[in-house]
Amino acid sequence: MTATNPIGIHALVWVGDTSPASVSTAIARTRETGYDLLEFSLHDSVALDTARARAELAAAGLAVACSRGLAPDADVSATDPAVVARGADLLHRSVQVTHDLGGQLLTGALYSAFRKYDHPVSAAGRANIVAVLREVALEAARLDVVLGLEVCNRYETNVLNTAHDALRLADDVGADNVVIHLDSYHMNIEEDDFERPFREVGDRLGYVHVGENHRGHLGTGHIDFDQFFATLVDIGYAGPVTFESFSSAVVMPGLSSDLAVWRDLWTDGTELATRARAFIAGHLTTPSGQPG
Ligand code: MN
Repeated sequence: MTATNPIGIHALVWVGDTSPASVSTAIARTRETGYDLLEFSLHDSVALDTARARAELAAAGLAVACSRGLAPDADVSATDPAVVARGADLLHRSVQVTHDLGGQLLTGALYSAFRKYDHPVSAAGRANIVAVLREVALEAARLDVVLGLEVCNRYETNVLNTAHDALRLADDVGADNVVIHLDSYHMNIEEDDFERPFREVGDRLGYVHVGENHRGHLGTGHIDFDQFFATLVDIGYAGPVTFESFSSAVVMPGLSSDLAVWRDLWTDGTELATRARAFIAGHLTTPSGQPG
């Protein structure tokens, strides 16, 4: 069975910011290493020239996706209306940036700040998330943008840690353009295995991140990628599969700290990306235990 999922890569494998020069570098490297899609974090994107980036992406024949988390002072899961409003504003602006880049997916922790919370999300906070995401999903639909709810681990959010939680939040938002985004790194911490969550999400799966348990080279950790990819193929998932890896070799101020990227897991992004693409393509083409 041959899958034809677009294979993507996170820009932080290449560069630590979104200045025009860094965006050009990321696009060139992504193309050279054979990927189909480039994901930009909008965490620190003030320098991003969307018109220029869009033109360069189109010229390189690359698709684009955007991701982000919110911030402690701009958090739609909060109960302070001013903090919620700033979070909603970040989301609205991020939808516009995604559209301006020519993208059709904004994903990530769109429901809370990227931080370790010291309490469970409150009922009022969750109601704020639902109200804001309904509004943002409406605007996103007008711009042909889909919102992804990335399932993140307990140290990065208190809103949803499992695929099951994400489905319930998406049900409450009730918009057709909200999809579930699963990530092997987070699944490894929170889920029972790498099969049941995919089957529960089914055709509501809209985006996938592939990362090792230590977020370094694929295949050098202990994640059961045979089960992960065999299930993806088996449920007929046809969407993007994006490689995510972080090292202290490339630092994005803000995001790298929020993700606790303290270790130097690799230094050569090109070698990392080349090996990762072959690993993903190989697993998508020939799932474990199946011929050809
Ligand atoms: Mn991820």
